[in-house]
Order: sequence, then structure tokens, then C-alpha cells
Amino acid sequence: MEKCKWKLYPLVVGEAVVGQVLDVFWSLTRDKSQVDVPIMAWLLMPLDQGEPILVDTGFRDAERCQHVHGLGPHRTKPEWSLEQQLANHGLTPKDIKTVILTHLHYDHAGGCTQFSNAKFIIQRSELKAAAAPVVSPHLDFGGGALFYDRKDIAEIVDPLWSQVELLEGDEEIAPGVQCVLFSNTHTPGSQAVYVNTEVGTAVILGDIARKVDLNINQGIPPGLFYDLEATYRAMNKIKKEANVILPSHDYELVKKYENGL
Ligand SMILES: [Zn+2]
Repeated sequence: MEKCKWKLYPLVVGEAVVGQVLDVFWSLTRDKSQVDVPIMAWLLMPLDQGEPILVDTGFRDAERCQHVHGLGPHRTKPEWSLEQQLANHGLTPKDIKTVILTHLHYDHAGGCTQFSNAKFIIQRSELKAAAAPVVSPHLDFGGGALFYDRKDIAEIVDPLWSQVELLEGDEEIAPGVQCVLFSNTHTPGSQAVYVNTEVGTAVILGDIARKVDLNINQGIPPGLFYDLEATYRAMNKIKKEANVILPSHDYELVKKYENGL
């Protein structure tokens, strides 16, 4: 049987000023410049049958990004709210029955309580790492939790707990949509989302890689990872299996796919 096909839309739900150093393996880069990056979610619309799926939810509050996580400026505007971004596609948060979280960092898993009808698909290893992160109390950025926001995680374990579905590895979420675990890459339980589209398999990366050419094609790891070998293996596997690769913080993708892919 033909697999179900989906159309993907990038949603810009915020903006951050970050160091270019995040794109490249620390010791290999001399680039200390800052760059504006989008904070993105993805909307998956079924072309055959099924219901829309949201991948990631952005950050909860621009102020917290700076004052709790100790990062540079983060911006929001009314037209970037998830509510408005979904309204552009004729949807409200209540219409979303499935939210896949690639990982639980503050810029991917914020504000989940607005989705009262959704189940939240998360890798168990990611929730464990987020609830009890390995981190030094002396680190002066990352909110004392290495970029997991305690407020987001508190909401996930309660009051959203009955809506949470924990995965133990790779799993099909709907026909043509699969979560694939890449342990100890960007985070302990980061998952990519493989989506069957008109142009083949599109892979939504979360932050497993930040730049397709640099990290995937040239094989230079991104700046933030847990296990270097696991990260190399992930880059190779994604390169082989994906027809289209979609990282989370790239304005070029937003432009290229503004009408969906
Ligand atoms: Zn991110």
C-alpha cells in the first residue's frame, strides 16, 4: 500500500540572537559573530487522511530566555504566536491532537498547556534528562538546567502528565510519520521526525544538526552535542535516509518553504 503523504509548513514562533559558534564543533571554529535565527515549529498537514500534527512549540517567554537562561535577546511579536501561526492554516490550538517534541530545550517545548486536546510525544530518555539534568551549579547560563526550562518540565510531568506519551525509541506516530531516536546527540533523547512527502522523506531534525551543508554534507558536527561518535553516526544516517533535511533555526528554510513542501 502507498504510504500516506504529508505537506509540511515551517512556522516561525520567535527569534533569537545567538553565537555562530553554535553551528560548528567548538574547537574548529574561529567565528565569534552573532546571528539572528528563527525559533521554529513545523505543521504537518495530511494529504490523504489523518489529522494535523505539530512538531515543537517554541519558547514560553522571551524574558525568561534572557534572564533565566542567560542568553542573548529573544523576540516575539503577535503574528509569531503559535495561535496566529496556526490560524494562518485555519487551525486553533484545540484542533491539534498530536504534538511531537523533538527535544525539551526551552526553545522547543515552551507553553505546551495551550494544547488542551493534544497528546505530547516525547522520548522517555529525554524527559529523564530534562527533569534531572547533568549540570554544574556554577555554570552561569542555561537556567541551572542546561537549557531545559524547569517551568516547561514541571508542566509536562504535571498537569499535562495524562497527555504525555513516552517513546522508548523509533516509532510510527501516524502512517507516513515516524519518530527516530538519536540518543546523546544534541540532547540525551533527541528525536528526528521522518515525514513522507511529495518529494520523498523529509527529516525534521530538532537541533541534531543546525546547518545542512556544514553539519550533514561536510560532516562537521554542530557546537552542542553529548557524544561525538553518536553525532557522527546520526549525521551519516540522516544523510543516507533523508531526501530533504530540515533543521530548526535557519531562515533560508523558512523562505524556501514558505508555501510548504
Ligand atoms: Zn533549538
